[in-house]
Parts: sequence; C-alpha cells; structure tokens
Amino acid sequence: MFVYIDGKFFPENEAKVSIFDHGFLYGDGVFEGIRAYNGRVFRLAEHVDRLFDSAKAIDLVPPVTKEEMAEIIKETLRKNNLKNAYIRPIISRGVGSMGLDPHRCAKPSVICAATEWGAMYGDLYETGLTAVTVCVRRNTPDSLPPNIKSLNYLNNILGKIEANYKGGDEAIFLDRTGKLAEGSGDNIYLVKNGKLYTPPTINNLKGITRQVLLELLDKIGVPYEVCELGLFDLYTADEVMVTGTAAEICAITKIDGRVIGNGKPGAVYRKLIPAFQEVTKNEGDA
Ligand code: PLP
Repeated sequence: MFVYIDGKFFPENEAKVSIFDHGFLYGDGVFEGIRAYNGRVFRLAEHVDRLFDSAKAIDLVPPVTKEEMAEIIKETLRKNNLKNAYIRPIISRGVGSMGLDPHRCAKPSVICAATEWGAMYGDLYETGLTAVTVCVRRNTPDSLPPNIKSLNYLNNILGKIEANYKGGDEAIFLDRTGKLAEGSGDNIYLVKNGKLYTPPTINNLKGITRQVLLELLDKIGVPYEVCELGLFDLYTADEVMVTGTAAEICAITKIDGRVIGNGKPGAVYRKLIPAFQEVTKNEGDA
C-alpha cells in the first residue's frame, strides 16, 4: 500500500509522520472518510468541501487547493490499484515545537491513505445492529461543534467503548438536552407510520450519506421530516437505521434492550438498500 505524505507517495512501511506533528501531539487537524466503488470516488466534491470547512473552523489553512486535494485522493486510489476502498485524507497542523499554539507549526501536513473496504457490518445488515444510548453527550457547551471532523474523536470512542461493554454494536448519542443526535460514526433515522424522521444537523455531523439517503427517499416515495427527536421516539419507532460512509446504511433492531418494530430490518430500509447500491454503482469520480 502507498501513502501520500506532503507531495510524495511512500510504501506503507516507510510512510512516517513526526511525533512532533501537532496532529499527533494534540489531535490538531481534520480528516475525511471517503468511499470508492468500482474505482470511482463517491461524492468526492462534497467530502473535499467538508474537509475544507472543518479546516476553516479550526483556523487551519490547507497547503493545497480543493482541486489538488481531490486529485491527491483520486491518485491514492489509482496508485494502490483499489476498486472498492475506504480513503482517509488528513490535514494536520504540521510539525512544531511542544506547546499547543498552532503558530509553532510552520506548515500543515497533507496525508492520504486508502484501504480495501467491503461491507463493514457483515451479516448485521440482514439482522440489524444492537445499539445502546451512552453517557457521552453530543454538542455540550464545552465540546467541539459536531460538524468539525477533527482528529479528536475521543468522545465518539468513549461512546463506542461504553456500547461495546453493554453488548451493543453501536453507540447512540443524545445531546445536552436529551435530544437524539447521532451514532459514533453515523447519522440516525427512525421510521414511524411510513414516514422517516431525522434530527437537524445542529447536534451531529452533516453526513454525506445522510444527504444521499434524503435524496433516495424522494425516489422511493417515502416522506420525511427533519425535526428534533427524543428517546421516546426512538424506542417506539417502527424502524431505526444509521448511515455513514464506512457503514453505508444499516438497520438497528434493538436499542437499550427494547426491540424495535418487529425486531427485523423494516420495509423502508429494505427499499433503501437497492436504491443506495444503484447510486454507488452509477456515480463517482475516476
Ligand atoms: N457522524 C459522525 C460522528 C461521523 O464520524 C460520520 C462519518 O463520517 C457520520 C456521522 C456520517 O457521515 P458521512 O455519511 O459523511 O460519512
């Protein structure tokens, strides 16, 4: 595998970054997770836009243009001869002396790695995930804005650890007021009486797969509403599902011990899966 670092590709065992990179020392940087299907990068422009917005929000000026970043991402895929892949571009604050002031870093670093990728949840796409609502809250007064995809994912990781200990495949986060936010690496939806509901993106990441799903709902004729939701809505839903670049679309059939709907992935989910596969088959940048 070849990894792009600041202008050059290195074989993965020679791909190294300094321990004085503030991305490593302080989690000071931003990243994206992008999928390629059949050798084409899915929703590339949207991911590059979000990467640059994340950078802007932490006052980091990328050392490359959006066009150059898009080319680096495509080149990483080509260089590794990958068809179905997960691509990870990173912009870190760069190498600097100790001390968290970003002015200590001369230049941000651009890194891009890729790996082969299939169905992240395997058989669970058929049975549905078990999820647990966790103690960690999204969008608290002292937390990072959830729309920054920063190199500091510890809250998400704490949620995942808690869910794993409690027997869950995925963690569900509420926000500081108890409203439904998202999963540890995915957006969340519920279906009630044939209509789909999802929270507004004030307390969760503006997911690119979320945008795809909302577009697909029009095609499959399912109405939707973006609105604040709570635990009661979740527990009493007919269907619950999550979306993310890595996970795609996956049903949740159990939450905090409650069986969702009839305990099986529901009708809206079953319509969405082929519609999503159709889009990923036909779209993308090579
Ligand atoms: N929420 C969080 C916290 C994430 O990390 C991700 C993954 O990037 C998502 C939601 C889903 O976003 P996307 O569909 O753009 O991958």
